[in-house]
Amino acid sequence: MLLRLGSSPLPALRRARIYVCGITPYDTTHIGHAATFVWVDALSRVLEHVGIEVQVVRNITDIDDELLRAAGEQGTTWQALATQQTFQFEDDMRKLRVQRPAFEPASRDYVTDVIFLARALLDRGAAYERDGSVFFRAGDLHTASGLSREDALRVYDDRGGRVDDPAKDDPFDAALWQASTEGEPSWESPWGPGRPGWHVECAAMATTLLGLSIDVHAGGADLAYPHHAYENAMVEAATGVSPFSRSWMHVGTVTKGGEKVAKSTGNLVFVMDLLQDHAPQALRLHILDRPWRETWDFDHGDLAAAEEKLEALWSATARPGGSDAAVTAACEALLDDIDVPRALDIALEDGGEAARTVAKILALL
Ligand code: ZN
Repeated sequence: MLLRLGSSPLPALRRARIYVCGITPYDTTHIGHAATFVWVDALSRVLEHVGIEVQVVRNITDIDDELLRAAGEQGTTWQALATQQTFQFEDDMRKLRVQRPAFEPASRDYVTDVIFLARALLDRGAAYERDGSVFFRAGDLHTASGLSREDALRVYDDRGGRVDDPAKDDPFDAALWQASTEGEPSWESPWGPGRPGWHVECAAMATTLLGLSIDVHAGGADLAYPHHAYENAMVEAATGVSPFSRSWMHVGTVTKGGEKVAKSTGNLVFVMDLLQDHAPQALRLHILDRPWRETWDFDHGDLAAAEEKLEALWSATARPGGSDAAVTAACEALLDDIDVPRALDIALEDGGEAARTVAKILALL
């Protein structure tokens, strides 16, 4: 039994450790978030169907500039806003039948782990201390972006890289520990009061909860660079264990009207709104009925079509038939890069047990 995920064949072991980058809890769950977590849920369910014990860690990034800003604007504390938005997010996930992760760590609870990791990187010569901050030496990590140096620098800066920080030796270096400025949350450390950097938070939560290497690291495609490239480099440099992750699942970006679904573009589609008019299974099917790495455009008409396809699947489950061979073929499709469209074709064509199996694995009943 072999799971293929992208170009990585993953011989199945008894236990699969999956880390997925979760939300920054300052805003309501939108379709882009939902796509990532529904895909990770589908992967988990396929693995569980073949007897693998799955451990998912889905973190909450609750030490974050955007969260601090949003809390300030709303006249509340970042802790209160994070708690309230995490509750709403978990409610959306429950409605979408996304199974609860084994661990849902929040960054604020892993500050000590970050300090240990930063110390390990200092000991290895992969980091340096400057003015109460600790920076990771990026070296030529920007080549992981596939972009020119200039374009990579722009992307890095857009995603919190603070390329103009004069304390850094190189603009691509990343804060493992950031000295706090006035009004920011801060914790004690060997380098003075400060807070963790973004990439090292995930590195600390993943290694503390799942060990020095994991089976699948997942997240939205826009996290591949710089977030995952840095997190991966930090863990490998600190532990000496490579690869940190046996495979990566970068779930395709969701766009609307051709632009990425994002607060900044003002085209957000919220899960809670969609679930007013549509069954959660229809939204799941709509998200999953495509290759997982593909960028796609959200359209209400397409969601209505998914609802019809769901009805057809339900009808197919009530039909007789669905031979053992069809059931096997459907399961093999799901193990082959989670090929949901092929599994659904088999389910609709053969009906019966094949349809019931596919619908059950993907939580579409
Ligand atoms: Zn992360």
